[in-house]
Amino acid sequence: MKIICIGRNYVDHAKELNNPVPKKPLVFMKPASALLINNKPLYYPEFTKSLHYEAEIVLKIAKNGKHIEDKFAPKYVTEIAIGIDFTARDLQSQLKEKGHPWEIAKGFDGSAALSPFIPIERVDRNAVEFKLTKNGETVQLGNTKDLIFSFEHIITYTSTFFKLNIGDLIYTGTPAGVGEVQVGDVLEGFIKQNGSFDDGAPLLYCQIK
Ligand code: ZN
Repeated sequence: MKIICIGRNYVDHAKELNNPVPKKPLVFMKPASALLINNKPLYYPEFTKSLHYEAEIVLKIAKNGKHIEDKFAPKYVTEIAIGIDFTARDLQSQLKEKGHPWEIAKGFDGSAALSPFIPIERVDRNAVEFKLTKNGETVQLGNTKDLIFSFEHIITYTSTFFKLNIGDLIYTGTPAGVGEVQVGDVLEGFIKQNGSFDDGAPLLYCQIK
């Protein structure tokens, strides 16, 4: 299983970090050991002083395929989730400055928090609304209609480099509002289903320990 991530896929987030808006998807990966599931806590890593959350819609690949054409891409996703792409921002900035790969700042243990999956029929697949709260306060509110590169384009593009396998995950990028967490903070992620954020508990719950 591989975890593919797309960076800077919302204009407002690219701008908040003073990054240019990309012309092609910016792709990086996390190892399978980064996965954080079942509402487990994240232990604040000792190698950073600036741990950031990035809430993202996550696609689960439902079919094996490579060089997938645009028109077939929708068939490759039947379930979505909300995830957090945890980032050691200080470490990432140092690596970026040197032009080095940033895996250690993005792919450390627990850096890919993931909720249970929901059938994509429960949302408008072209306009998935999601939000992240920190200690009960909304910090990120996103809508995938604002994606620079759509789910379908991401699948088409990444599958020209990597064969996509059933169960692979794609983190599709974060909207504006990223920020730091501290030990003790609680993050909760929601996807609007059947028109509401409020039908039941959050999909994703993650405490920083
Ligand atoms: Zn991200």
